[in-house]
Amino acid sequence: MDNCIFCKIIAGDIPSKKAYEDDKIFAFYDIAPQAPVHILVIPKEHIASVDGINDSNSGIVAHIFECIPRIAADAGLTNGFRIVSNCGDDACQSVKHLHFHILGGKQLNGEMA
Ligand code: AMP
Ligand code: ZN
Repeated sequence: MDNCIFCKIIAGDIPSKKAYEDDKIFAFYDIAPQAPVHILVIPKEHIASVDGINDSNSGIVAHIFECIPRIAADAGLTNGFRIVSNCGDDACQSVKHLHFHILGGKQLNGEMA
């Protein structure tokens, strides 16, 4: 997808600190971390947001969630973590390529919004 920064990260055109990669997904450290560990997990296929998940691409989302426990454990998150996916303007989604934030490494705030 032209002009998508996460597609450019997957392609290696924008540098990132990789946490995990396989043929379907890529995980990398957030450039502006909001917790001691802040990783983004994205599908290599461009999907704009949670709103773009459907019958034909939902397998990639299942795969992301199958991989998240190992990505979190490899990042040292042995005492829990939070998964967040912002969808659309009210949620302040700033990059329109589906991504799941993994946040952890401290006691997180009990409020989510
Ligand atoms: P969201 O606001 O939910 O769309 O999340 C987008 C996230 O992407 C933010 O937490 C940004 O800090 C992060 N981000 C934007 N550009 C980059 C980049 N080049 N490398 C790593 N993370 C990025
Ligand atoms: Zn993209």
